Amino acid sequence: MELIPDRMRAAVLFGPGDIRVTEKPVPVPGPEEVLVRVAMCGTCGTDLKIYDGHFPLTPPFGSFTPGHEWTGTVTAAGSAVDEFAPGDRVCIEAHSGCGRCDNCITGRYTACLNYGNQAKGHRATGMTTDGGFAEYAVHHVRALYRLPEELSFEEGVLLTTAGTGLYGIDVAGGYVAGLDVVVFGPGPVGLTTVQVLKALGAGRVILVGTRPSRLELGKRLGADHVINASLADPVPAILELTGGDGADMTIECSGGLGVPQQCAEITKRGGKIVVVAFYPDKVTFDLSAVVRKDISMYTSRGEGGNNVKRAVALAAAGKLRGSEMVTHHFPLEEIAEAFRVVRERDGDPVKVVLVP
Ligand SMILES: [Zn+2]
Ligand SMILES: [Zn+2]
Repeated sequence: MELIPDRMRAAVLFGPGDIRVTEKPVPVPGPEEVLVRVAMCGTCGTDLKIYDGHFPLTPPFGSFTPGHEWTGTVTAAGSAVDEFAPGDRVCIEAHSGCGRCDNCITGRYTACLNYGNQAKGHRATGMTTDGGFAEYAVHHVRALYRLPEELSFEEGVLLTTAGTGLYGIDVAGGYVAGLDVVVFGPGPVGLTTVQVLKALGAGRVILVGTRPSRLELGKRLGADHVINASLADPVPAILELTGGDGADMTIECSGGLGVPQQCAEITKRGGKIVVVAFYPDKVTFDLSAVVRKDISMYTSRGEGGNNVKRAVALAAAGKLRGSEMVTHHFPLEEIAEAFRVVRERDGDPVKVVLVP
């Protein structure tokens, strides 16, 4: 049995734009939780919002440790846990619902009605409770998945991300075999979504983005066509590729303010638009065109619906490659520098991970 120290190094947010590594007590798992020794923790746009102090319901400055895409090894299990044992390598979903509200009861736990209410059992690691930019983190077993032996921790970090696209497809009715699908945004969510779509038997997957390095990676990871929207309007190109009808399904992972309008224009009559992105401002687009074309629109938040479990299965089968997206490793002490690299996109990062 591994010896668990009392104190650990953890990144703590002291105020907007002020994050430092400090010492704090190793958290103690509750009855239904485990303690995990963190191997690595990914960063994303949500971390930048948290870093800037623009995220609701985070714990107070001076104590809060962010980080919601982490993976590692179980070192201790709570009294009611028999699903996991010390030594198990695990990956996570960020959200653990309260388990008692209407939405949790019907399985929609990323829409938990007690979001942020710890007394009622809700936890969103690294968002409403301490997360994985630390040596250790606790997590509820209902949001934890065993990482198969053949998968590295780099793969494990991306499984949380892959759950987002899978959940979006799930919410939109699933079953994409034979469909032509357009994915906007070749970030980690878009790039995992491309792979998942191919694994689900999609016809052609068309990836649209603005950075050539990411589009190249998208091609290597399975996109049939890539379109650089910074060179030309992607709408005519997509319509040409789809015989003038448009895509059967469009998945918006970019968060670009002009992209929802493009989605409306390039989705086939009777098709589906799935939005899993967040936007820096209110979005304007021709909703009447969506209605006129009888398009169904769906949104989903995060990696719900047990879809990280599906991501684990696809990765174990070799159909979802995450480690190729991990472009930068930083030691935990350099977290502020890592956030700068993510924000300024310095060196074309795709997924930047912190190693405690
Ligand atoms: Zn994230
Ligand atoms: Zn709930």
